[in-house]
Amino acid sequence: MANYICMPVGRMGVNCYIVYDDDRQAVVVDPGSDSERIINAIKKYNFKVIYVMLTHVHFDHILAAGDVIAGTGAKFLVPKDDEAALYDPDRSLMYFAGQNTELNIKPDRLLSDEDTVKAGKLEIRVVHTPGHTPGSSCYICGNLLISGDTLFAGSIGRTDFPGGDSAAIMCSLNRLSELEGDYTVLPGHGPSTTLAEEKRGNPYMNSSGYGFDY
Ligand SMILES: [Zn+2]
Repeated sequence: MANYICMPVGRMGVNCYIVYDDDRQAVVVDPGSDSERIINAIKKYNFKVIYVMLTHVHFDHILAAGDVIAGTGAKFLVPKDDEAALYDPDRSLMYFAGQNTELNIKPDRLLSDEDTVKAGKLEIRVVHTPGHTPGSSCYICGNLLISGDTLFAGSIGRTDFPGGDSAAIMCSLNRLSELEGDYTVLPGHGPSTTLAEEKRGNPYMNSSGYGFDY
């Protein structure tokens, strides 16, 4: 059974998720800022963090990764097609953060489409959903779908940053809409939703064409 807590962090309000099993073995997704708060929560709830994972490499999702890794000994997992952005402040939008620097941690593993990540009793399926960035990925764990900046409640991620691709994100959303069953969708910003609700009400996810961002 996958449980989670959501901590909005930083001035961009990124949702950092801690997903954990019944033994409190955990993964931290998108530690974007506020590393002290994240590490305090990990200590308070006695989580054993096995992995820090990124949905994509944009500064607002990654800035606390180094501290959380240093504080927990977790391994660092990054979508393969966003690896280069770790070392490219233009692609990571690091200049927005006033930090024209590289992130000085290296991934332990690069994630590709349909990879499986096992952490304790958690089994996480990687669904590569390019568009917001080339490597943007969703993570499915039990009934949870962590959607990063690909799918939001009622909206989708921007595609006008370096590496963005509006045609690719529409293909990615199509793929998500074809997933069997329903999921609790945990986006990178804003409230949670469900896949069924987004298929019904999100203009970017239904086939009418209305709302397409071209
Ligand atoms: Zn982003």
